[in-house]
Amino acid sequence: METRTCPCCERDCPQDWMQKHHLKTRRVDKALTEWLCKDCHRQIHALFSIKELRKREDLNTLEGLMAQEPFVQAVRFIRTRTPGTRIRTFTSNRVTRQRSRLDYIQK
Ligand SMILES: [Zn+2]
Ligand SMILES: [Zn+2]
Repeated sequence: METRTCPCCERDCPQDWMQKHHLKTRRVDKALTEWLCKDCHRQIHALFSIKELRKREDLNTLEGLMAQEPFVQAVRFIRTRTPGTRIRTFTSNRVTRQRSRLDYIQK
């Protein structure tokens, strides 16, 4: 099967384990996507809300994301796992709070 290398964890992953992450979502003309493995991608969204990702310039680039200490720590762990195995994500308190607020609204 065709594989791609995730730019975050640098693991070679099967194509179906890769997802597109939008680095720039606000300005359509500068829309930039990056293929990330499912684990790194899920981890980014567990740590940062969509709002934060849009608002914060430092989260708009791969380099910027790789400078975020909680993400770096998670990637260090992801690197030790085989692509395709279930990995626990570390959700930030901010995202957890936002999610519980959403649950509340939906109820
Ligand atoms: Zn990855
Ligand atoms: Zn994404």
